[in-house]
Amino acid sequence: MVLINRKDLIDLFHENGYKVTPQRLAIFECIMGRRDHPSASEIHSELKREYPTISQATIYNTLHILRDIGAIQELGFEDGKTRFDPDTSIHVNLVCTACGKITDFTDEDLVKAWIGMVEKTAKKTVGQRLDLYYKCTHCSRMVSE
Ligand SMILES: [Zn+2]
Ligand SMILES: [Zn+2]
Repeated sequence: MVLINRKDLIDLFHENGYKVTPQRLAIFECIMGRRDHPSASEIHSELKREYPTISQATIYNTLHILRDIGAIQELGFEDGKTRFDPDTSIHVNLVCTACGKITDFTDEDLVKAWIGMVEKTAKKTVGQRLDLYYKCTHCSRMVSE
């Protein structure tokens, strides 16, 4: 797992001409502290407790800045829901199609094979994403009952 730290983030903000504000940092800290690939509205409801005036628009803008500077990954899905992933390294997102839960999976051999494939095919990579769709243990139990 590769997570960017606060100091690197502040450098990235400055390098890209963005202002560092307490709200932006709070949004960053919030997403970095989660492994469940939250949506913008989940981040919003978590932060509203501490920052009652924070708007959904601020959350969206900041998440998009974080994505643009490469600090997080944006994961769009067919159902229109967009989730955000703080881990920018090569890993598989295990996506439950029933409850929407997303967990990360990584494997050294898989990463090696993937990098080898990328080197052979792509001159310049601008992004990558590995998803596996399945039913999580909880949801597959519900089906069989
Ligand atoms: Zn992930
Ligand atoms: Zn599930």
